[in-house]
Amino acid sequence: MKKQAVIVGYGGMGAWHHKALQEIGKIDVIGIYDIREEVFEKAAKQNLTIFQNFQAVLESSAEIIIIATPNDSHKDYCISALEAGKHVVCEKPVTLSVKDLEEIIAVSQNSAGIFTVHQNRRWDTDFRIVQKILSENIIDTPYFIESRVNGSSVFLHGWRDFKVNGGGMLYDWGVHLIDQLLLLTPAKVTSVTAHVKSVFSEEVDDNVKLLLGFSDGLSVLVEIATNCFIPFPRWHLSGKAGTAIIDNWEGEGKIIQLLEGSNPTWSNEIVYTAAGPTRTMAPRAKKTVQEVPLPMVEKYDKGFQHNFYSAEHFYSNLVDAINGKEEQFVKEDQILRVLKVIEAAFESAEIQDRILCTI
Ligand code: NAD
Repeated sequence: MKKQAVIVGYGGMGAWHHKALQEIGKIDVIGIYDIREEVFEKAAKQNLTIFQNFQAVLESSAEIIIIATPNDSHKDYCISALEAGKHVVCEKPVTLSVKDLEEIIAVSQNSAGIFTVHQNRRWDTDFRIVQKILSENIIDTPYFIESRVNGSSVFLHGWRDFKVNGGGMLYDWGVHLIDQLLLLTPAKVTSVTAHVKSVFSEEVDDNVKLLLGFSDGLSVLVEIATNCFIPFPRWHLSGKAGTAIIDNWEGEGKIIQLLEGSNPTWSNEIVYTAAGPTRTMAPRAKKTVQEVPLPMVEKYDKGFQHNFYSAEHFYSNLVDAINGKEEQFVKEDQILRVLKVIEAAFESAEIQDRILCTI
């Protein structure tokens, strides 16, 4: 029999979970709980039960509670649902502090339910291409990875503009980008340096640059901007044997690889360029490199109305994890690491210095 779920918070993302689950068909959403009456009509049209309070959700037949409310309200819902023996899918960031998350994890470890977080960007096309570039060693060991999300809308939508609700871009996008980066290497984060700005927002960060150092020597730049009118590529990877660029979410881009056997050192001859005479910055001789396409990853082609590639994988895993057939994909210790990096980033920005750590 299909598992049943209730969605708490039937706004943008709550409705997305509902639509995704309708299309995927693995879990039946039986109802919603929301504090805003405006959404009740939308839910009723979808034949969803509208629960009058959270206690009624806990007493319902749903085994799974999906929490998609603003960031500051996740914690209590997670704890109550886990204490009631439910499985919990919480939207990211699950909490605003490591301490709060540790409290949830402590409850989760004594409960029958699974606790997981919707880190859906683990299935993004661009990210899976990066994983493949590294796993297939296409540019050799990377020493710099740059991961950027550049928007230009300038304003932050709704509660995202308010500190009390856990607004701001480090919590909103940072949590995704950091989660992805921590999956790329088994190494520990050993330093965090952050520049966190509120350029247009009065309360929260809308422009962030974060530099992470890893114990294996990798350095990572994370950039999130809501007011960048000339965007950078989504990814830029520098490895000893080449450079890879992924321009966008569709996964377009290219790799320039050093040809095997070609000597990476330059001849002694001075090259005259627009920058003046230079050996170091002169363009590389074409015969020493080759352009290769980005590796292919599975693309979404199921004929669904929306792109529910991530939802299909996330929820298949959840059902299998509940049935004891698979390990849950988004694990508690992984979520905790992401939040520890975010906390270190806020601290670094505040003291305007580098935070040394082992995360
Ligand atoms: P939203 O404002 O569109 O929707 C939030 C809904 O929660 C609203 O309907 C609101 O009435 C309701 N709500 C507010 N406080 C509540 C409370 N205390 N109890 C019950 N209902 C409450 O916000 P959104 O964009 O859907 O974001 C919701 C969550 O989803 C956030 O944590 C956000 O970070 C996350 N999110 C995740 C992704 C992703 O890709 N994983 C994308 C967008 C948003």
